[in-house]
Amino acid sequence: MALIVQKFGGTSVADTKRISAAARRAIREAHNGNQVVMVVSAMGKQTDHLISLAKELCDRPNTREMDMLMSTGEQVTIALMAIALESLGHKAVSFTGAQIGIRTDATYSKARIRSISTDRMRKALDEGKIVIAAGFQGVDDDFNITTLGRGGSDTTAVALAAALKADRCDIYTDVDGVYTTDPRIVPEARRLERISYDEMLELASLGAGVMHSRSIEFAKKFGTIVHVRSSFSDNPGTIIGPDVERVDAPVCGAALAKDETRITVIGVPDEPGVAMRLFSKFADAKIPTDMIAQNSSAKGRTDVSFTVQSDDALRARDVVAEAVKEINAERFEIDENVAKVSVVGLGMTKQAGVAQKMFHALSECGVNIQMIATSDIKISALVGRDDAVTALRAAHRAFKLDVELTEEERSKSAGSVQIPSDSFEKGVSTHLISHLTGMEDVVVEGVELDDDQVRVTLYDLPDRPGLAAEVFDKVAEGRIIVDMIVQSVGRDSLANITFTVPREELESVTAVTKQVCASYECHSEIDSRVAKLSVRGSGLRSHTGLAYRMFKTLSDCNVNVSVISLSERCVGVLVDKDHGAIGRENLQREFANETF
Ligand code: ASP
Ligand code: MG
Repeated sequence: MALIVQKFGGTSVADTKRISAAARRAIREAHNGNQVVMVVSAMGKQTDHLISLAKELCDRPNTREMDMLMSTGEQVTIALMAIALESLGHKAVSFTGAQIGIRTDATYSKARIRSISTDRMRKALDEGKIVIAAGFQGVDDDFNITTLGRGGSDTTAVALAAALKADRCDIYTDVDGVYTTDPRIVPEARRLERISYDEMLELASLGAGVMHSRSIEFAKKFGTIVHVRSSFSDNPGTIIGPDVERVDAPVCGAALAKDETRITVIGVPDEPGVAMRLFSKFADAKIPTDMIAQNSSAKGRTDVSFTVQSDDALRARDVVAEAVKEINAERFEIDENVAKVSVVGLGMTKQAGVAQKMFHALSECGVNIQMIATSDIKISALVGRDDAVTALRAAHRAFKLDVELTEEERSKSAGSVQIPSDSFEKGVSTHLISHLTGMEDVVVEGVELDDDQVRVTLYDLPDRPGLAAEVFDKVAEGRIIVDMIVQSVGRDSLANITFTVPREELESVTAVTKQVCASYECHSEIDSRVAKLSVRGSGLRSHTGLAYRMFKTLSDCNVNVSVISLSERCVGVLVDKDHGAIGRENLQREFANETF
């Protein structure tokens, strides 16, 4: 007998008819001889409705009471679902997060799961009941109701699947799987048959709406196989599982985060540890930051830019205002009219020219790139919000994500769609649950040092459409493989571009840099004594505290960080070559408890 977790999102339980349809799906699974745990969201747009009620009363409602309020949406659905199941003749029982024993920390509206007790669910399952669990909610040590963040029912579902060692976690939604990008924005998007945890996590965290990114962290950590499928059809859907060798393309998907906000802190004293203090404030406020870029240092001061989600913009403004005073920066600027377009793929770690292709695509449709940030498996460009959709489409097309796979390609990639039968054992594994103090604790896979890098920075380039494409064309002509790329916002419509290349490219990159400087009348700096330190794991960017701990550890041992690259599976920083070894040692010590 298999144990299956089925999650139904808001649209799949929007009215009583759909609730009945979901109930019938669960019964069908039960009649196949399986035990079934259902996890449900609030009906339709109920959560939005509850939030708007509170906002009618107050701009910034008390967060404890907001969680109390929002959790009621799911409570309605579980009761109706149990009633539906019983009316269809099947035994059922509904539980709130607290009744199951989903323990979380006390961070209202973004609580993280610490532990789940399975006894009560197991008992009900053994009595032949279908168990219905409220998604998105838990309870803290003082029995306050907490919620896991918008879209958090996915996380509940995968977490329950992990805790129960379920054979499968089916996510029923209003689309029939994971697409190369959002089909509502780009109709030519294609469904993926399968995608790896790392790619899905990165896409989800960069704005792909399909799944709550924390749910994928769980799935990866515990080896849970996730099947995303439509609640309105029996189409095959998409399997999210362990890595696959992708034969076809370097990029598997593109994502748009439409509501981003750029913050630039101007005139930050360029002393070790100062930028670290800035980000510590954001880590304390649990506001994730992305696309961190530092500018050149003029008169001992630098400008630091980064992005936050617009949902967090109001709080971010308070945090940054305080930080500016504390670190003695000059001032800050906020641009709330930007969007982030990203492409993601495991294949790009092995292929050159991927970034260049993206920049070209945007350049050809006249989109100006305001900032660039890359990491091992993603490239993000910050653009004006009005350009967002054009840019997303262009990137999607450039990587041929709109083209149907041929039979041969399909069979090749299908050949790697192997769901390990003992899938649970394939994850970071069972013993983890007992090792971690919280199920959502971050897991570090290791600290790596690459001390064979060269950093090139081009200062004061004219910030206009096509700039990055032209620069990286020249680099590509020299057949130079580029690793980290950062474009930062400069003053007076000027931009800086920094990138790293392997040391063996020093000579050729020097020649290319000369050319670029001559044609743009810009100046440059080449530092051949740099090293890259990376911490690998999963959920590294969304666990706001981790990158901060990395910066702090390095600052405490006097290692200065010049370039930062962030993704969910890797945080990389560039440091002085002589500091590489000591940096690695200290990072290994710092993360020893999280490394398995
Ligand atoms: N009802 C919550 C929301 O709308 C949780 C969820 O649907 O996953 O965000
Ligand atoms: Mg949802």
